[in-house]
Amino acid sequence: ADIAMYNAKWQRSGVELYRDEIDRRTPARLSMLGDLRAAIEGDEIDVVFQPKLELGTGRVVGAEALVRWESPTRGRVSPAEFVRVAEDTGLIKDLTDLVLKRGIAALRMFDDAGLGLRLAINLSTHDLFDTKLPARVLTQLEYNQVQPSELTLEITESSLLVDAPRTRATIDDLHDAGFRLAIDDFGTGYSSLSYLRRLPVQELKIDQSFVSGMLLDPQDEVIVRSTIDLGHNLRLSVVAEGVEDEATLHALASMGCDVAQGYWIARPLSAPELIAWVIERRR
Ligand code: C2E
Ligand code: CA
Ligand code: CA
Ligand code: CA
Repeated sequence: ADIAMYNAKWQRSGVELYRDEIDRRTPARLSMLGDLRAAIEGDEIDVVFQPKLELGTGRVVGAEALVRWESPTRGRVSPAEFVRVAEDTGLIKDLTDLVLKRGIAALRMFDDAGLGLRLAINLSTHDLFDTKLPARVLTQLEYNQVQPSELTLEITESSLLVDAPRTRATIDDLHDAGFRLAIDDFGTGYSSLSYLRRLPVQELKIDQSFVSGMLLDPQDEVIVRSTIDLGHNLRLSVVAEGVEDEATLHALASMGCDVAQGYWIARPLSAPELIAWVIERRR
């Protein structure tokens, strides 16, 4: 049954990929590209932070940076949509640099407030093709006097499989530079166990599509449970994302999941809001 389900998901994403190829150069996309370029240069892009909660201790141990675009003409645009446009057009480098800059400046504020949080930044496949990526990140860190170990770089499972030799070299360089690496959206790609074992990653994030329905769908529950075991066998810290209710949080804790993230714990917050939220929780 598990295999049938994986196959179904695989087929679904295959269809999405195909549709993306067709959509790529439509007028709508080209117009979004123009607006997005102006947004990056102007002041329309924001970065918010969602807390990561350690289940064993109840402590907030980190926060994930998530990009936001509030366009005067389009309103709020979903990152899933505009990140994809940025990836298809080479704008992703500027977008990633912006998120790094804002994210690391916020991390400096978290440090100054004594929070001791790790910051997670999402990387796209295209970022991994740039051999200068480690140097780009280090420059931002030095400017803000933050250590590489305070930063987790989240890489989606599917981007790990694109042109493995080239992206693998960047991943090794990031690891050597002292960054912590996480595999994002785990369970939606098709990485083999032996490939996983050889990657220099420290964290595995179970995709929210399995977590959000795990108490209703026994297959999702099995996937979550076995991913936690798999992660622990590989000595990885396992993070569940998309936790939307208390019962799911408790179930994950009882399964030994290390860290959880989701609306039930907190929505993404501005940097000052996050600082206030963490301090309030610790009182
Ligand atoms: P992701 O990396 O898997 O991020 C998690 C997404 O789940 C975020 O959506 C977050 O707001 C949302 N989320 C958090 N908790 C819950 C919950 O309990 N329930 C549900 N249903 N959703 C929850 P968001 O911010 O819309 O981002 C969507 C995707 O866009 C991200 O998925 C990531 O792939 C991409 N993205 C966002 N920010 C960046 C960025 O700065 N750089 C890159 N390259 N990609 C980004
Ligand atoms: Ca992520
Ligand atoms: Ca994810
Ligand atoms: Ca996702």
